[in-house]
Amino acid sequence: MNYQSTRGRSGEVLSSAQIIKQGLALDGGLFIPDSIPSLSSDEIQKLCSLSYPERAAHILSKFLTDYTYDELLSDCRQAYCEESFPGGAAPVVKARDGIYSLELWHGPTAAFKDMALQIMPRLLSRALVKTGETRTALILVATSGDTGKAALEGYKDVDGIKIMVFYPVDGVSRVQKMQMATQTGSNVNVTAIYGNFDDAQTGVKKIFSDSDAVAFLDDKGYFFSSANSINWGRLAPQIVYYVSAYCDLLTSGDIKMGDKINVCVPTGNFGNIFAAYLAKLMGLPLGKLICASNQNNILTDFLNTGRYDRNRDFHCTMSPSMDILISSNLERLLAVTAGRELTAKYMDSLASEGCYEVDASVKAKIDESFCGYFADEASTAKTINEYFTKHGYLPDTHTAVALSAAEQYIQSSGDKTPMVVASTASPYKFAADVCVSLGLKKPEDDLDALDILANHTGTEIPYPLKNIAAREIRFTETVNAADMLCAVKKYIQK
Ligand SMILES: *Cc1c(COP(=O)(O)O)cnc(C)c1O
Repeated sequence: MNYQSTRGRSGEVLSSAQIIKQGLALDGGLFIPDSIPSLSSDEIQKLCSLSYPERAAHILSKFLTDYTYDELLSDCRQAYCEESFPGGAAPVVKARDGIYSLELWHGPTAAFKDMALQIMPRLLSRALVKTGETRTALILVATSGDTGKAALEGYKDVDGIKIMVFYPVDGVSRVQKMQMATQTGSNVNVTAIYGNFDDAQTGVKKIFSDSDAVAFLDDKGYFFSSANSINWGRLAPQIVYYVSAYCDLLTSGDIKMGDKINVCVPTGNFGNIFAAYLAKLMGLPLGKLICASNQNNILTDFLNTGRYDRNRDFHCTMSPSMDILISSNLERLLAVTAGRELTAKYMDSLASEGCYEVDASVKAKIDESFCGYFADEASTAKTINEYFTKHGYLPDTHTAVALSAAEQYIQSSGDKTPMVVASTASPYKFAADVCVSLGLKKPEDDLDALDILANHTGTEIPYPLKNIAAREIRFTETVNAADMLCAVKKYIQK
């Protein structure tokens, strides 16, 4: 299976190992496979009796054809092991009649990024060997909180790779800061910077494109790499859990083979929901894919009108992982529905005007599978409260946005098809806002919110967040944004 850029301008035709190592295409586009492999109902039936790691290896082997099945199975077994995902990687839980929650947050950082970041580093490590790379990959990450921690957990102690994470010293929650400052592993570094997330992000981008820095690293036996969500190595593993959810619903008798299910996904960068679309294109019986947004509802507008316009206000919400105005992975949907030439044109327009409008035929194709709804802050809080008090299900702020969107879709369409909602974070990850939504007083300290929520709801704090205040702090350094490159050099010379 070969991969090419969504923009079709670079002429690169690469293998899966090559694109996992490279990340982005040279023309600025994202890599997509030349064809979509199929998944028959016989295969789905067979997957039903398999474990999550076995389901994952089966699906991944269709896309990552220069990895052997045994390599993938070994990596999946380690990535999705019981120790990292106690009780299973992606359980399906009934949230209310007709709505199922696909819980993707049982991993080491209590958010769904683990589903990709536990496996992707292993795929990269193998890609280095497969492509004859002798240097060590240095992963640089700028984070507003969640991605950094998930990347650290994924890359720690992986062969041939070191990782360095920068976060804004006053731009992350106390829980997030503690999670990163106490990170274990022999190949990790965490550095805070004075400034905001944009300063951190700009600093990392600058280092990536600094030819002196690249030469310095090369001299020391390193090269830069990124853990960004536009890497195919993060996207492919996300297809698996939609297939797995279908298998679980078959096994439990909630659906019969061939029955359609709808899927609703709390969306930021459009990676997670695009993975659902790929599963559908492969042949998984998915009906509507409902794209759920928070107050930053640029995707809702796009799906309703066909016009993507980032010239609008940015809102900071209680579902911060969806506070995004440029959904990078949407480009992959455009490439599949509009073709490469039009995609390149749309992306040019986005870069120069901040907007583009898709042709009517493209919009019609997107409409066949997608629709969009959003929840503002009040509806999100109300959904958390209602789901807990009426249905006994406690969602986090991101999942609540999706539950609200799912309810809106069901209300307006009358569609009774079973609905799977992707649940992307543990409620404890956003405990303070969940407490307030439940009508409790806002806890003064983020860390106190964990116990308050546990006591009030009778639910359990997930293992990654337990006793977090008692862990050893390993990283305390804060530098100016201008000194990030110095910090990188210092780290690799250690
Ligand atoms: C990253 C993230 C999302 C958004 O996922 P995308 O793939 O970027 O659309 C939603 N919820 C949580 C909790 C996240 O961390």
